[in-house]
Amino acid sequence: MIAFTPEQEEFRRTVARFVDAEVVPQAAAIDERGEFPRELFTRVGAQGWLGLRYPEKYGGADADMVTYCLFVEELARGSLSLAASAAMQSLMGTYFVYKHGSEALRAKYLVPALRGDLVATFALTEPNAGSDVANIATRAERRGDRWVLRGTKTWVTSAPVADVLTVAAKTSGGRGLNSIALFLVDRGTMGGVTLGKPIDKIAVRASVTGEIVLEDVEVPAEHLLGGETGGVATINSILAEIRIMTAALSVGLMRAAYDAARVYARERMAFRKPIGEHQAIGFKLADMLTSLQAAALMTYQVAARLDAGRPIGREAAMAKLFASEAAVRVTDEAARVFGSYGLATEYPVQRYFRDARFLLPGGGTSEILRLVIGRELDWDRGAAFA
Ligand SMILES: Cc1cc2nc3c(=O)[nH]c(=O)nc-3n(C[C@H](O)[C@H](O)[C@H](O)COP(=O)(O)OP(=O)(O)OC[C@H]3O[C@@H](n4cnc5c(N)ncnc54)[C@H](O)[C@@H]3O)c2cc1C
Repeated sequence: MIAFTPEQEEFRRTVARFVDAEVVPQAAAIDERGEFPRELFTRVGAQGWLGLRYPEKYGGADADMVTYCLFVEELARGSLSLAASAAMQSLMGTYFVYKHGSEALRAKYLVPALRGDLVATFALTEPNAGSDVANIATRAERRGDRWVLRGTKTWVTSAPVADVLTVAAKTSGGRGLNSIALFLVDRGTMGGVTLGKPIDKIAVRASVTGEIVLEDVEVPAEHLLGGETGGVATINSILAEIRIMTAALSVGLMRAAYDAARVYARERMAFRKPIGEHQAIGFKLADMLTSLQAAALMTYQVAARLDAGRPIGREAAMAKLFASEAAVRVTDEAARVFGSYGLATEYPVQRYFRDARFLLPGGGTSEILRLVIGRELDWDRGAAFA
């Protein structure tokens, strides 16, 4: 059962009002332009929502994970592009400087990023290293009181507009995960950071993505976040939250798709009755609602477990796996309910169908998540649903 507190319910209503008034009317246009929606993004920041997971002293709200999920779910219902950018900013883009940065770095980067005045992102993936993180080729070499970074990152969310990036690089050679470290790179003050190949994609088009080339970028020693060998441990410490967040994005997108299909199925007539009254379409809606409900239950159950300080590694992977795959199915079914109009840009359902693909790779592909869940099977005990 999902039991939200009155404060959480009120918070959801507040975000929902913002989404209905500000985001939904612009969602198609920002998708079509494929541009970072800076004005909307700044307004989300002005609401204080980018700092939900951070302490108040940095402009945050000290909110629990359930509340954070309500935020990303509602935003995703309006625009998955905007939600993806906001999720990057409020989690991976800012987490590492918060976790390991000095107070001076937090004041300079975290505080303005949580206001939405500065765009922050995280660059791990490379042309030859996605799931296989140990294979990254970006190198960091120590020279006196500086580190010098060299390499190419790709699929970086907000790359063309990012002011500050947390970059993963190896501090020594070889394939080991232990040699990976994280560096805070300020694009405005550190030379050698350029934009590489832009990525034109079919999903979350207004969450702009691209390549970042680092050519002998000099990074001051205090910008090393979490030690020379601590990068992977730090990434792992936020991996469950990333997966739960992605599950919440999936729930939001499914709600948009289900609602669009439900309304259309009531209005569209075929053979002298609304198509929703044909059992085949009614069954589609029943399956969609069932998947949506199951995904929401899994998402909020694991978010509540995180808030209670309970182990969540396996459950977070299961929630992300189930919810993202369900989103792909539900948005596909929603588009089918629309018949030919499911292909028409006039209706948002084609955007939901395209955007759902974004949910699959982030935070671990479905194949990788099955490996994670499989590794954590308990061979001595049956399933426990507590
Ligand atoms: C819109 C978008 C935004 C992104 N934003 C960012 C970002 O901001 N920062 C960032 O660092 N990255 C980002 N990514 C990249 C994303 O995290 C990677 O794409 C993801 O980790 C998968 O890597 P890959 O695409 O290289 O696939 P690969 O790792 O090459 O995998 C290809 C296929 O092989 C499968 N596979 C791989 N290894 C195994 C295995 N051991 N067993 C079984 N199957 C396997 C995968 O599941 C997949 O199906 C983004 C991606 C997208 C689509």
